[in-house]
Amino acid sequence: MEKGELLYEGKAKRVYKTEDPKLFIVSYKDDATAFNGEKKGTIVGKGVVNNRMSNIMCQMLEDNGIATHLVKELNERETVVRAVEIVPLEVIVRNVAAGSFSKRFGVEEGTVLKNPTLEFCLKNDALGDPMINDYHILALDIATEKELKEMREMTFKINALLVEHFKKIGVKLIDFKIELGRVDGKIILADEISPDTCRFWDVETNEKLDKDRFRRDLGGVEEVYQEMLNRVTK
Ligand code: UDP
Repeated sequence: MEKGELLYEGKAKRVYKTEDPKLFIVSYKDDATAFNGEKKGTIVGKGVVNNRMSNIMCQMLEDNGIATHLVKELNERETVVRAVEIVPLEVIVRNVAAGSFSKRFGVEEGTVLKNPTLEFCLKNDALGDPMINDYHILALDIATEKELKEMREMTFKINALLVEHFKKIGVKLIDFKIELGRVDGKIILADEISPDTCRFWDVETNEKLDKDRFRRDLGGVEEVYQEMLNRVTK
């Protein structure tokens, strides 16, 4: 399958059309940004890690009854995915307090939450992806009540499957962000699952194995991306 017209270029990936209107090709870049694009850099090999790791995770989720966009890995940076209509929300799940949650609520990073939480943010860079609640989503006609329920149930199921999977490879899943899409009237997972979009801490040492090393200038960025790929491919 060949890449056609470039449909969209984001911060970390490009999306191309193909000869089949139902399929796109995603190409993962090494470019990294943080703080809504304020901080920019390159993480050598990140595109390869994110592509391969996301595909492994999507396959695991598919095997457990979650519909995803994954169709076929083409090469180390490119994958054929189902074309979807993206629901313009970032769906964030948290198991442990970190990042913006810790800041907003004054809860120390690393505090285990009594139950997993979910928050929606409106996907809008110009507005800084503001948090949005269910009533707002309905009022703005971003999703229907039925879709909201489907999105919440699916996201918590994804969380449970990911937590279990990562536990087996010595990784705590602190939090993550996903985007969902519509295809044939159904909601499917249409996003990467990678160190760019998840917080991963080593079970033993609590060492950060994710993009926080880039955000917070902790060093060893490339190394932890490789480490995560090594762990998921073992
Ligand atoms: N996240 C993401 N993209 C975003 C915002 C957040 O992938 O635009 C992920 C982030 O990597 C973390 C989780 O969502 O795993 C929660 O992020 P948080 O709200 O704490 O924001 P941050 O502290 O990264 O600004």
